[in-house]
Amino acid sequence: MLKDVFMSLSQNQLLNSTAKKYGLKLGAQSVVAGTNIEEAIQSIKELNAHGISCTVDNLGEFVFKEEEATAAKEQILKVIEAIHEHKVDAHISIKPTQVGLDIDYAFCLGNVREIVQKANEYDMFVNIDMEDYKHLPPTLDLLDELAKEYDNVGTVIQAYFHDALNMLQKYQNFRIRLVKGAYKESEEIAYQDKKDIDSNYIKLIEWHLLNGKFTSIATHDHKIINHVKNFVKKHQIPNDKFEFQMLYGFRRDMQLQLAKEGYNFCTYVPFGNDWYGYFMRRLAERPQNLNLVAKQVFNKKTNTVLGVAAGAFFLGRLTKSQNKKRK
Ligand SMILES: Cc1cc2nc3c(=O)[nH]c(=O)nc-3n(C[C@H](O)[C@H](O)[C@H](O)COP(=O)(O)OP(=O)(O)OC[C@H]3O[C@@H](n4cnc5c(N)ncnc54)[C@H](O)[C@@H]3O)c2cc1C
Repeated sequence: MLKDVFMSLSQNQLLNSTAKKYGLKLGAQSVVAGTNIEEAIQSIKELNAHGISCTVDNLGEFVFKEEEATAAKEQILKVIEAIHEHKVDAHISIKPTQVGLDIDYAFCLGNVREIVQKANEYDMFVNIDMEDYKHLPPTLDLLDELAKEYDNVGTVIQAYFHDALNMLQKYQNFRIRLVKGAYKESEEIAYQDKKDIDSNYIKLIEWHLLNGKFTSIATHDHKIINHVKNFVKKHQIPNDKFEFQMLYGFRRDMQLQLAKEGYNFCTYVPFGNDWYGYFMRRLAERPQNLNLVAKQVFNKKTNTVLGVAAGAFFLGRLTKSQNKKRK
């Protein structure tokens, strides 16, 4: 129920554009590494100091105009330059819709090619994040096209899809990030039950560790992580064949502990003022993450005022737009 509420909030364009104007609010600052490149680089340096590498996401949603997609591409090119200039241990994660997939495929391909080309000059990897099912086929087309020219590009396979193992087998020679899947998909194409998703996720991880290239295992689920630790030990899979990934701000102690234990660890570092959709999807995944909001709202006086004001404002706007729809 709460999952559905947050998922539909994440898709609300009005709330998204309103939130952009107010900076990081409602606890988002716990899970978003600032609003500009300088703040993101500072967060990366702090993580690098603990032996943690990073993948950087310049947040952006609802891009339907060419000039917005071009601006996003330019910003991502700046991020690549900044990573190189500051010599931090980081690579890039991009979302195709942010650089024009909803506008025109060829335009988007041109933008992604420029990003991958620039990263390639610095020997930097680019991960193409996977969005919802509607965008899956063109995203894989982008990957196929870019793989003809570059080897510094990979993508994500989402375990909730019935067809995930087939997809993984087809893309086994790419550097792949394995996730459970963050979007709401129909039961015709995706498992709905956590038990089924977890079991498919484990199947994919084991298959790729035994057969594929480097595997990124992106989860906050300690049960899955413990399973992987035992599995790699049993099959003598060396640590340099895989890494664990988690999102910035989540299970920080576990992130540090895994790095300390000698596992490759990569933190996904989102930054930018377009934080709202990302933050709502995190609340949809795990409504307990509302604790983050509560902590921010109740811990600091200023945040109380700003957080409550912004919350009331957002909810007010939401109620209005829902009432409009009902009429
Ligand atoms: C680095 C990274 C990149 C991602 N990229 C994509 C992508 O490109 N496309 C996509 O669709 N999805 C992506 N995701 C999101 C992913 O698909 C899941 O929606 C998300 O990670 C939640 O699933 P989970 O595996 O972390 O565990 P869940 O199934 O959410 O949680 C399992 C259990 O882990 C524990 N747990 C989880 N989180 C916490 C916490 N914060 N604190 C304490 N305990 C916790 C709880 O016991 C929980 O019951 C990404 C996730 C990560 C980490």
